[in-house]
Amino acid sequence: AKAEGRNRFQFFDRSLDAAARRRNLIEQELRTAVANESLTMNFQPLVDSGDGQVLCVESLLRWNHATLGAISPAEFIPIAEDVGLIEQIGAWVIRQGCMTAAAWPETVRIAVNLSPRQFGGTGLYASIAAALRDSGLPPSRLELEVTESLLLKTDTLVESTLTAIKALGVRIALDDFGTGYSSLSYLRKYRFDKLKIDQSFISDIESNRDSRAIVSAIIALGRDLGISLAAEGVETEGQYKILQTLGCSELQGYLIGRPMPSDELSSFLTSRAAA
Ligand code: C2E
Ligand code: CA
Ligand code: CA
Ligand code: CA
Repeated sequence: AKAEGRNRFQFFDRSLDAAARRRNLIEQELRTAVANESLTMNFQPLVDSGDGQVLCVESLLRWNHATLGAISPAEFIPIAEDVGLIEQIGAWVIRQGCMTAAAWPETVRIAVNLSPRQFGGTGLYASIAAALRDSGLPPSRLELEVTESLLLKTDTLVESTLTAIKALGVRIALDDFGTGYSSLSYLRKYRFDKLKIDQSFISDIESNRDSRAIVSAIIALGRDLGISLAAEGVETEGQYKILQTLGCSELQGYLIGRPMPSDELSSFLTSRAAA
């Protein structure tokens, strides 16, 4: 039994080692990727649940490594946050997003994901203002997706930065809504323009009455507060119909369109506009 215990520890050590090694490798390769500008962006549409027109497009980072293959942002973003690369990556995403969106029809907004770590100084505000100026994109066509983890910070810098960004005319969306800790108090403190209901509530909305009740309540709340509502992760016709009936104004998910490269998105916008 003793030997077995030791083996188990060895196994544990080795797997920990493998995870640490992959992390180090990703960190190194990410530095190179950022320096070489080899990260790319995909774009996923959000449509009006009523008429199917594209209202907004979310940018999602992609990294296709020569030998490691596609690395998920869910893996490399947290590493970028830890090693201080997120400010640079984030500023690039904002700039690239605004430049790309400036070529879209003026009814289509761009949504960009922000990491809480980007709120560390005055850099974020400056990079947003510069991206808007240089791209010529009207501020009302830029939407920033933040998560509750940002609002957990009791930092006055977060509050003042959000206020300054909003004053530019940029929209703020609260992402992954429903998965956090005390969402409702944040709704009083900050004026969000949009709530994005987390896909974990959408995935079982057809089979789970509780999920349906929660989503219905969130939509009613948004309506009463004058905040627009979006649902992410819509994969089936059934989910689409339920959300439409409940009055969720914007829908996003594989059913409507997967995250796609910029040129594919342009064709998607053209075909939807003609439809
Ligand atoms: P998120 O912002 O919650 O993005 C939604 C994720 O769900 C995306 O994963 C998207 O590809 C995926 N998704 C979209 N529709 C469906 C669907 O119908 N079904 C399912 N199962 N999934 C769907 P992705 O692209 O892997 O991104 C993962 C996370 O990485 C994002 O979650 C976001 O937190 C982060 N991320 C991505 N790009 C950026 C970025 O530019 N900056 C920052 N800070 N974070 C980013
Ligand atoms: Ca998002
Ligand atoms: Ca989300
Ligand atoms: Ca998420």
